[in-house]
Formats: sequence, C-alpha cells, structure tokens
Amino acid sequence: MKKSEIVAALNEKDFSHFYEKADLIRYREKGDYVFIRAIIEFSNYCSRRCAYCGINADNKNISRYRMTASEITDTAEAAVKAGYKTIVLQSGENHKEDKKELGRIIRAIKKNQVAVTLSIGELSYNDLSYFKECGADRYLLKHETSDTDLYRSLHPDGNFEERIKCLRNIKKLGFEAGGGFMVGLPGQTIESIADDLLLLKELQCDMAGIGPFIPHPDTPLSESGSGSTELSKRAMAIARILLPKANLTVTTALGILDPKERDSAFHCGANVIMKKITPDEYKEDYCIYPARFDRTDIIKDRREIERIVVQTGRRPI
Ligand code: SAM
Repeated sequence: MKKSEIVAALNEKDFSHFYEKADLIRYREKGDYVFIRAIIEFSNYCSRRCAYCGINADNKNISRYRMTASEITDTAEAAVKAGYKTIVLQSGENHKEDKKELGRIIRAIKKNQVAVTLSIGELSYNDLSYFKECGADRYLLKHETSDTDLYRSLHPDGNFEERIKCLRNIKKLGFEAGGGFMVGLPGQTIESIADDLLLLKELQCDMAGIGPFIPHPDTPLSESGSGSTELSKRAMAIARILLPKANLTVTTALGILDPKERDSAFHCGANVIMKKITPDEYKEDYCIYPARFDRTDIIKDRREIERIVVQTGRRPI
C-alpha cells in the first residue's frame, strides 16, 4: 500500500473491509494461535525524560527499584512452569546497568528452553551483540513516532536517527526485531501514522506493538487525552496487511483503555498478547501510564489469559 492509500484507509468511515482482510492474512500466516508472552519489568531506573512515560527520570513520585538476579530468574522459572514459552525482560533505559549480570540472567533463563526478548532501550552495537551471544532471541524497541519534529519534542535525551540505527543493528545482529509506535500522541497526524506503518515495513520488523498513548499525571503530557482505540486497531490491521508474517501484539495499553477492544483486536490482525508477571512489590512502581493492578498469581493469571483467548475463538500457546 502507498502512503496515500494508507491515509485514505485510516480515514474511511467503514473500515470493516480492511479488518476482514487483515484477519484473513493473520489466519493464513499464523493460524488461530495466540502467543502469550510473560513480561518481567525488572527495573524502573531510567536516565531518559520521555515526555509521555511515567518512569521518566524526572518523575520523583515513584520509588525506583531493580529486581535482584535471583528474583528475576525465579520469576522467569515460575512463568515457565505456568506454560510460558517466551520471557520478555523490560526496563527503563539505564546505562549504569550491569551488563555482565544481565548476561548471566539471560543465560540462566535460556536453560529453560524458552525464548528471551529484551526491551531495555537503545544500546550500542557491541552491547546488543553481547546480549545476542548470551542467548537473547528478540529485541523490542518501538520507534514511538516517525514524525521527527514530534519525536524531538517528546525526547529531550534522544534522537530519532539513533533509535532507527539501533533498530537496524538489532536486525543486522539476527535478533527478531520488534518495532512499534503510539497512537494519539498530541500533535500526531494520520499522515505520520501512515509513515509509522511504512517505516515498520521498511525496517522489515518481525514483531510490532501498536497501541494508544495514555496520559500519565506526573508527566508533561498529563493534560492530553488518550489515543483512540479504534485508530490503534486500524493501524494494527494495516500493519498486518503490510507485514503478513509479523507477530503483532495487542498492547497492554489497549486492554487498559477497554478490555473489549483488546479482545476484538484478535480479529484485526493481532496474534500476540503479553502478561505482566512482575512481582507485586514492584509492579505499582512500573507505571508507564496509570493502571490498576490485581495481585500477581502467575499460574492463575496465565489460565485467565488463556480463557480470554479461547473466548475470542483462538488457541492460546
Ligand atoms: N526503555 C525501553 C525503551 O525505551 O524501549 C523500554 C521501556 S518503555 C517504558 C516501553 C514502551 O512503553 C515504550 O516503547 C512506549 O511505547 C510505551 N509507553 C511509555 N509511556 C507510555 C504511555 N504514556 N502510553 C502508552 N505507551 C507508553
């Protein structure tokens, strides 16, 4: 699809034809399976001040934590026992992170024969290469927005070119590369969402997360409105059409705004969902946007997500 076609599609009054097409492609390429991934948010230390994010360095209203190595590996092991086949390790961007220790953690988790996904921000080629050697299989780094002016205004500490360079290095090193962006950032246009989608294609992303922006009260964007769940689903459907083989995640943000929209996203091209398994003592402090969290029970929570997936007519894996 060309940019003008994507813009026209996203603006259509009746989008059902594109949802049907995306769902057919998803079925052809992925079958009825929905991958359920476990995510451990192992640290909320962050050196960046991204204007949308609740764990940005300027937010003094949260306690900063870093799980110990054994807390991380024990949590991962409990997830493996519950049936998860992928462990996602996510954190704020913290250049003081002990790389060797994280390397040992990855090696320990890999002994369980599961896939390990990292989502720890921008890294140098050498650091990415080191984590690849340690056994990490996948790397998530959303480009957030392809509108370079908007990107600059939201990221006082980063630049778009560096982020894209990092994504290209991720791909070059043989990781499964995960991109993505937020929908509904203040100032974002439909044209720039079309560019976001074309960028995912150009980068040949193996995975993508496309979800609504949710304002956090302790950030510079606290007064902004949330992104549209409908537009997020539309963007995801176009992503499925552009990248038929990609693994597309129903973002947690979509489910927080509306659980029904989360469930319907499985019929709009999505085939992946993530479940937070961060221990209770930490998860309130990993608040990238406001959300209510129930107590974690890794086995029970997994069964609950499986039930939801089955209810949507799909098969959990
Ligand atoms: N530090 C890593 C990075 O920069 O990729 C990973 C952690 S970061 C908190 C994970 C993702 O959270 C970001 O890529 C961003 O898309 C999402 N995020 C942060 N704040 C958000 C908000 N207010 N609404 C929706 N998504 C948000």
